[in-house]
Amino acid sequence: MSRYWSEVARGLMPYVPGEQPKLANLVKLNTNENPYGPSAKVLEALRAEAIDSLRLYPDPNSDQLRAAIASFHGVDATQVFVGNGSDEVLAHAFLALLKHDQAILFPDISYSFYPVYCGLYQIDYREIALTESFEIRVDDYLIPNGGIIFPNPNAPTGRLLVLSEIERLLNANTESVVVVDEAYIDFGGESAVSLVARYPQLLVVHTLSKSHSLAGLRVGYAIGQASLIEALGRVKDSFNSYPLDRFAQAGATAAMRDRAWFDETCGKVIATRTRLIQAMAAMGFEVLPSAANFVFARHPQHDGAALATALRERSIIVRHFKKPVRINPFLRITVGTDAQCDALLAALDGILA
Ligand code: PMP
Repeated sequence: MSRYWSEVARGLMPYVPGEQPKLANLVKLNTNENPYGPSAKVLEALRAEAIDSLRLYPDPNSDQLRAAIASFHGVDATQVFVGNGSDEVLAHAFLALLKHDQAILFPDISYSFYPVYCGLYQIDYREIALTESFEIRVDDYLIPNGGIIFPNPNAPTGRLLVLSEIERLLNANTESVVVVDEAYIDFGGESAVSLVARYPQLLVVHTLSKSHSLAGLRVGYAIGQASLIEALGRVKDSFNSYPLDRFAQAGATAAMRDRAWFDETCGKVIATRTRLIQAMAAMGFEVLPSAANFVFARHPQHDGAALATALRERSIIVRHFKKPVRINPFLRITVGTDAQCDALLAALDGILA
């Protein structure tokens, strides 16, 4: 801290992302990246962008990409907003749609960036406890609020809230925006995008970081009715006119158009997840049902932090959250390739023995 810092900078509690290790040869199962490389069509599109036109600014509105996203989801391009990773889309949603007089609501165990945005934009929030089985109970959200946000499937639990429950929430909560953060929806959930046409207060946020294997490109988007999208655009154009560079726009467009790669890869991750959950359960782990590309698990006889450390000594990194207390025994483990999961299982076998 220094005397040159603003009051705002002094007061911030920044988000701490999972480690991106410099060491090679680690089995990296800590930040929910896709274990498979992106579509060959994406790589081709990126190479085609490495040309003289890089001297020119990119399209500030990402029209081609928005059209590709709209066509993927069967919505209109006016219902699509894109940003530099879904983190940026979420940040704009907090400022444009969730900052009101009343406190917003989100689960007590959830994506830990939400309270950080609240700190940045001075938004009051109230954390709503998940049930004993780590589920979101819609009835607990039926109280006055300035907005509601939750990931679905939730992170880091992986638990899914079924679409009919989201619709029940939307029918009861009409006076504030409901943001459904669907970063992991493609690994087994049903998207709330299908509800957008009927619910003007619904904003659904997606990322290309997970199911499209493009965490390094930084592209996310939101789908909602045009009036919500317009508010996001106002914040974006008061912040950065060009959040997506030429590579990001071209690569993400190619990704949205390659449905075959997407379907195949999501299918592989889901199949490996099923195998991983069965194998871990056989070792005595309690594994929460997961609709995401990660599992959340604890072992009744072993401390979560100690397990994470022991795995690291065996060159495998997973995520352990020190707080809150309720999730202390758990490890969040990204679903890797079959070979990576075999390495994880072999290491766990050694540690437990
Ligand atoms: N939402 C959730 C629930 C996440 O776990 C993540 C990944 N950390 C994000 C949003 C952000 O993803 P990205 O910024 O890579 O699109």
